[in-house]
Amino acid sequence: MKILILGAPGAGKGTQAKLIAEKYQLAHISTGDIFRSNIQGNTPLGQQAQQYMSQGLLVPDELTIALVKDYLETNHFENGYILDGFPRTIPQAESFDAYLASKQECMDYVIDIEIPDEFILDRMSGRRVCTKCGATYHIVNSPSKKEGICDTCGTALIQREDDQAETVKKRLEVYHAETQPLIDHYKGKAKYLPVDGTGSVEEVFASLNKMLGA
Ligand code: AMP
Repeated sequence: MKILILGAPGAGKGTQAKLIAEKYQLAHISTGDIFRSNIQGNTPLGQQAQQYMSQGLLVPDELTIALVKDYLETNHFENGYILDGFPRTIPQAESFDAYLASKQECMDYVIDIEIPDEFILDRMSGRRVCTKCGATYHIVNSPSKKEGICDTCGTALIQREDDQAETVKKRLEVYHAETQPLIDHYKGKAKYLPVDGTGSVEEVFASLNKMLGA
């Protein structure tokens, strides 16, 4: 099974993608996570990506497409995967469609987490992440047991540079201009599953499960 998960930054794509990957035994492929781990490791890819990410801009298509193809060529995902954060532009989608077609494969489901921009700004400003194990918290909705410290590994939590208010506004603009058109692009190509993203993590996951099981 191959799933693509769409939604504005802060819609909860990463959280839902992880839950779906666990439940359906799929690989979770997050281009944002891959870029971040390259930034942490100070690789040439990380150095290139950081200048765009820190400003709320997208990493150029050629770089991102090459990264994903390389990732899929070097790893074998027998059960399929869920793509989180890729494709994010029409050229990325077209290039990825052609890649899948060349393997006689296709996307099965496109999940769209729908959520108004006002919700996003609130959510993102409270998000805190662990740079060591990747766990995500929210200072109000899902706080760590000890303030500022990861429950899982005890590392200090940080606010991602691109979660700061001005950068979030830029990311939302980019989302509406570049990524939202993918909804129409994929309607008719894969089963389209829109879900209300304003509920709790559990509510959104329950709705998705119902639709995926249908
Ligand atoms: P995310 O964790 O998915 O919100 O991604 C964080 C940032 O990584 C984005 O704001 C972009 O700068 C970059 N990024 C992630 N995926 C892509 C992609 N498919 N195309 C271009 N840039 C991306």
